[in-house]
Amino acid sequence: MIDRLVAFDTTSRESNLALIDFVRNYLEDWGVKSEVVYDSTGRKANLFATIGPADQGGVLLSGHSDVVPVDGQAWDSDPFKIETRSQKIYGRGSSDMKSFIAVMLAKVPDYLERPLAKPIHLALSHDEEVGCIGIRSLIEILKPRAEKPRLCIIGEPTLMQPVIAHKGSRRLRCHVHGHEAHSSLTDRGVNAVEYAAELIAFLKNMARRKRAEGPFDSAFDPPYTTIHTGIVTGGTAVNIVPKECRFDFEMRHLPEDDPDAITEELKHYAATLLPEMQAVAAEAGFAFEETNVVAPLSAKDSDEVVQLAMELSGANSTGKVSFATEGGLYQEAGIPTVICGPGSIEQAHKPNEFIAIDQIRQCEIFIDRLIERVR
Ligand SMILES: [Zn+2]
Repeated sequence: MIDRLVAFDTTSRESNLALIDFVRNYLEDWGVKSEVVYDSTGRKANLFATIGPADQGGVLLSGHSDVVPVDGQAWDSDPFKIETRSQKIYGRGSSDMKSFIAVMLAKVPDYLERPLAKPIHLALSHDEEVGCIGIRSLIEILKPRAEKPRLCIIGEPTLMQPVIAHKGSRRLRCHVHGHEAHSSLTDRGVNAVEYAAELIAFLKNMARRKRAEGPFDSAFDPPYTTIHTGIVTGGTAVNIVPKECRFDFEMRHLPEDDPDAITEELKHYAATLLPEMQAVAAEAGFAFEETNVVAPLSAKDSDEVVQLAMELSGANSTGKVSFATEGGLYQEAGIPTVICGPGSIEQAHKPNEFIAIDQIRQCEIFIDRLIERVR
């Protein structure tokens, strides 16, 4: 099953429909109906299926079908054809997160073997790697249901250790509108690139302050909220005072930290620059646009879903991670969620991504125990 799933090039920019069709047909062969939820382009889809009594909450196993690009990465083998070397399976998505999906699908005959007292739901999403986009429409469909999944396990690579919290992520784009002038007459222009640079430096200083003063949670690595600017675009020629500049920045915040406060501080600073800009050109200024928000995940060890994941994995402790997942969005929708899956995030997104076969075995045991548990 891992072999088959990895062979679909589901890089986020590509359509994932071939994989979704394969899974739908596979489930249909076992007599299991799927709901397929297409995006507005019709090129991408989520899939949702329920095995067992639909009038009960049950446990949702959830994974994203997309993978990150292999562009510019030096692979020793074809990334879309698995290769097994020294107890490791190599391939794009082997750890993030097609092996988990493969195990949850391969176990379908076991779910069906005897009637389940509680349902097991399966969910596949699209476009997780580009900001947890796809899952949102699936969650919208689940939200109003009287019997939505009671608990959710997302099999992102955690080495089968239950992860109860992750940082939230928030992305913004700032458009700086300046005023064009000949570069010999800088006093007649409003340099959009320079004002952008002032804001970026301000963000950098806030990032330094977060690092030095917290808040801190040592379970995260790094243990504080991070802020960074990822893209800057502006200017047309060195002898023209640039009229436009835009930059994209991102915050990865601790669940208890407030990203709105960071944005407000930046906007407040930007407002102090306005009189100087508008004295030259009334139309000069800033516009902020939120481009992506992923809610943080924050569960407690005592939560039912966490207790379940600990029992199934045999782990006696839990962890927190800095990468965002769909878990925050499920939690926000009232579906308690834990992250627990095979493979390591260390291997994810890299060339020669692999998963240790032992991890797959542990994942199988995890699912077998789940089946016993919901019987
Ligand atoms: Zn992932």
